[in-house]
Amino acid sequence: MKERGWTEIPIGGIIEDAGNAATYETGSWRTYRPIWDSEACIDCLRCWVACPDSSIELADGKIAGIDYDHCKGCGICSFECPVDPKAIQMKLETDVAKK
Ligand code: SF4
Ligand code: SF4
Repeated sequence: MKERGWTEIPIGGIIEDAGNAATYETGSWRTYRPIWDSEACIDCLRCWVACPDSSIELADGKIAGIDYDHCKGCGICSFECPVDPKAIQMKLETDVAKK
């Protein structure tokens, strides 16, 4: 998408078009990555309810994975997970990238 110059930006910087959050990939600046363990998961869906970025993916009413393009690594899903040890563990992106 072409960036607008200052003469083309709407007054007040308002966003004119709905649905533009889908193209904003917040995962690109994530520091921590949630790692989901399908074996430990009990499909309680707490993480899905709590995720502020709708990044917990569902299939047939069960967790199917994590949308890493939009997950910003806040860790709320892991915090809310009732399983001990957590079925979602937060790992540093730099550590995950090394593997
Ligand atoms: S880390 Fe935050 S944004 Fe990413 S899946 Fe968990 S709750 Fe959602
Ligand atoms: S909160 Fe934990 S146990 Fe519940 S669905 Fe999410 S990962 Fe699975």
